[in-house]
Order: sequence, then structure tokens, then C-alpha cells
Amino acid sequence: MAETIYDVAIIGGGPAGYTAAIRGAEYGLKVALIEKTDKLGGTCLHVGCIPTKALLFNAEIWDHLKHAAEFGIGGMGTPTLDWAAVLKRKDGIIAKHVKGLEFLMKKHKIAVIAGYGRLTGPAANGVHTVEVTSGEAVSQVQAKNVILGTGSEAKMLPGLTADNSILTNIEILSMEQAPKSLIVIGAGAVGMEFASIFRSFGTEVTIVEFLPRVVPVEDEEISKELTRLYKKRGIDVNTGARVEKVEKTESGVKVTFTDANGKTQVKEAEKVLVAVGRAGRTENIGIEKTKAELERGLIKVNEAQETAEPGVFAIGDIVAGLPQLAHVGAMAGMVAVAKIAGRTFRPIRRDRIPGCTYTEPQIGSVGLTEAQAKEKGYTVKVGKFPFAGNSKATIVGSHDGFVKIVADAQYGEILGVHILGPEATELIAEAVAVLELEGTVEEMMFAIHAHPTLAESLLDAYGAVEGMAINA
Ligand SMILES: Cc1cc2nc3c(=O)[nH]c(=O)nc-3n(C[C@H](O)[C@H](O)[C@H](O)COP(=O)(O)OP(=O)(O)OC[C@H]3O[C@@H](n4cnc5c(N)ncnc54)[C@H](O)[C@@H]3O)c2cc1C
Repeated sequence: MAETIYDVAIIGGGPAGYTAAIRGAEYGLKVALIEKTDKLGGTCLHVGCIPTKALLFNAEIWDHLKHAAEFGIGGMGTPTLDWAAVLKRKDGIIAKHVKGLEFLMKKHKIAVIAGYGRLTGPAANGVHTVEVTSGEAVSQVQAKNVILGTGSEAKMLPGLTADNSILTNIEILSMEQAPKSLIVIGAGAVGMEFASIFRSFGTEVTIVEFLPRVVPVEDEEISKELTRLYKKRGIDVNTGARVEKVEKTESGVKVTFTDANGKTQVKEAEKVLVAVGRAGRTENIGIEKTKAELERGLIKVNEAQETAEPGVFAIGDIVAGLPQLAHVGAMAGMVAVAKIAGRTFRPIRRDRIPGCTYTEPQIGSVGLTEAQAKEKGYTVKVGKFPFAGNSKATIVGSHDGFVKIVADAQYGEILGVHILGPEATELIAEAVAVLELEGTVEEMMFAIHAHPTLAESLLDAYGAVEGMAINA
């Protein structure tokens, strides 16, 4: 019989789980965090957000070096890529943050329990039992509440298994060399980011996407312009294309697909990345022994992240109806523990979640796309401002892209902001605050933005809604 009864036991030490653990401890809850691997951080830290952004930064520096002479830097010779050093830097960043998480767990007196966690069923006398398996050893953790945060893994195309030429986000992050050619199946954020990274490093990249446009969750104008810019970078973009077959060849892989015109196309490459979405890890965690309900493999929750089973919460990539993003999982964790601690919280609103894609150029967006706003019945007013008119964009040598504001014509409320361009993933933070505070175009047209900054492009875009941009 376990001696300690925790206020909350969290299964999964990714960004959703560890954030819930820390905030729970900050509320004074007694917290246990159960993690099956020997390191905290989950997909995000080990094979997701952090390593990809590390490689994207290498790619950005590499791209700048191509223009060194333009910036007055001579004597460079021909830069060469030391891939082993690229991976070493990435691994160093991960290791540093793993240590950081270990420190935070100790600081907050969170009990980190190593092993595979599984619910055993509903609570008995208000106490849940989680069975934890670690090697041969099986123990039990008791808690008044359980939060499930087991995350997700890459979906594979039927009949394929990941290896050294058929890759998921895991294998592609530890290749011995950057490949000479790469086919990316799936043009969501993950596929588009890897395409961007390897194109910068000189890889021949082909994208094959089933839907009619790349980054399909974004505003259509963003997809269209990013496609144009990718093609300009020499990336072969195929949308509306259905993959028929992926075969291994002597030199790598061969992908057969039906293109948007119904024609069969065959492309060969050294490697193929399968980036067709992520499946929630909802199997074998004991959900079937509870009242918790699934919707297409993901767990249904209410606005406090509670499942249908009393005292059982779900957060992060396993939750139905929310985008699978680290910051969404982390916020869901904070909401769940606030509910458990009896503190006030604000439910997650889907239309207030920033979406960031760290491609070159970047995408940052929040709120409704133009099409979504129209579907919802708004009379929409749109303002668009190109980075070509922004002086800081000239300074940093990055004129591609635009800021697009979607506003309600009647009251001027800003409903959505869509940015494609330099530092878009940083710039979007202003728009998140604007939407959170229900800001209007008029208010933001008189909000002073420092000069010269990329953020000034937002000021011009608010003005553009009224046909009054200054710099365009
Ligand atoms: C290539 C790539 C790039 C990405 N880039 C970004 C980005 O830039 N920004 C962003 O917001 N999101 C990004 N994401 C998405 C992000 O990684 C996920 O949304 C996030 O990791 C989800 O967090 P989570 O805690 O729900 O799950 P995970 O991070 O998957 O963590 C789940 C944890 O639970 C553990 N676990 C699972 N089952 C059990 C069990 N039964 N018992 C104990 N432990 C268990 C796992 O070992 C893991 O540590 C990216 C994803 C990928 C694949």
C-alpha cells in the first residue's frame, strides 16, 4: 500500500505534464510526475520544438553566410557544413534544458517517479491508483486527481516502418549527414520546417501534400505566398497530391503519387520524411477502465480539462479539439491544476492560440482567418501591409511576406492577425495580447510602435484596414 496520497499525479513529463507539475506545486499541491523515459521534456524538448528550432537557427546563419560579401564580410572562403557539430550543438541545447527541468522539479519538491503510468480505474473513496511499471518492478501511486499528459507520436503511412531512409521527426534529427535529396510527405508545420532547414543546407527538397495547399490551417493568402517563396528557393511543391506508394531503392526511396491533375508522378530521393500528423498516446494507459471518452483517438475534455471520469484530467497532444502545440499543452496543464487547486482560471479559447511555423520566412498567426471570419457571419474588413515597406525589414535584408489584419467591419474588433515574414513568430505576441484584450483597429492605429522595428509593420497593417497605411 502506497504511503503518500498526492493531490495530483501527472502521467507524462512533456511540456504539458511538467508545466502542470510546476504550477501545481506553486499552488501548494503535493505533486507526483510519472515519466516513462529517463529524461523529462517529452517530444518538444527531445525530438520536436527545441531541436528543430536549433537546426533552423543554424540554417539561418548559413543563409546569412551566403550573403556575407553583401554585408561587407570578406575572407570567408567557401563555408563548409560540419553536420556533426550542428548535431552536437542541438544535443547540447537539449541537455542543458533537461538539467533545467531537473532543477525545477527539485526546487518545487515535485516527486518525479520513473516508469510507465497506467490508470487502474475510477477513484476509490476519492483516491485514484496509478500503476507504475519500471522494468520488472510494479508500484502504485495514489492521488486525489490524475492528469493524463502522455503526448503523441508521428503517424506512419500504412505499411511503412521508420528506418534510416523512411524517417519521422525522430530519425531525421539524428542523421549522420544532411541528405542530398529529401521528399517530405505532408506540408503542415513539421514538414514545412524540415523542408526549410534542409533546403538552406543545399538539399534538393520535394514536398508532397494531399490537401490543396501548404500549411492548410493558415489563412489562404499565407499558403499561397509561402508556396511561391518555397518555389523561388528551389523547392518542388506538389499540393493536391495523393501518395500511392513509397518504395525503397538501392540509393534511397521512390515515392509515387497522383498529382493535382490526376497524373502519376514518381520522385526519387535519398530520404523521405513522413510528416502526416500525430497520433495521441491514448492506448494502454487505462482509459478504457474509466468513463473518459475518446473522439477519433483523442480524449474529450471540458473547459477545465476534465474528462468524463471524475478526478481525471487530460492535457497536451492527447486532447481532442485543440491544436497539438507545446504552448497549448502547457496552458492546458495550468488550467487543470488551477481547477484542482480551486483557483480561478480562464479556459483555453481556440481562437486565441498563436500558431507559429518557423520556416524561412516565418509564419505567426492568431485568431480567425479571413475565410473563417466570413463563415462565422462577420462582415469583414481586411488590412494588408507588405514587409517591403518596412525599414527594419530592409536593414535585416528580409522583405518577403506581409501582415494581414482581419477585422469586424461593424465595431472594428480585430478578429485575426496573420503574419508571414521576418520574426513573425515573435511579432505575433502583440497580436495575441490585442485579441485577448478585444482590441479594435482604431485603438491599435494609435498605439505607438517603436521605429525602426519589424513590429511597425503591424501599425501599418492596422492602418491598412482603413486604407491608411503610412509606408505603402
Ligand atoms: C518536429 C516537431 C516540431 C515541433 N515544433 C513545435 C513548436 O515549434 N512549437 C510548438 O508549440 N509545438 C511544436 N511541436 C509540437 C510539440 O512538440 C507538442 O505539442 C508537445 O510536445 C506536446 O506536449 P505533451 O506534453 O502533450 O506531450 P509530449 O511532449 O509528447 O510528452 C509526453 C511525455 O509523456 C511520456 N509518456 C507517454 N506515455 C507515458 C506513460 N504511460 N507513462 C509515463 N510517461 C509517459 C513520454 O515519454 C513523454 O515524455 C513540434 C512537434 C514536432 C514533432
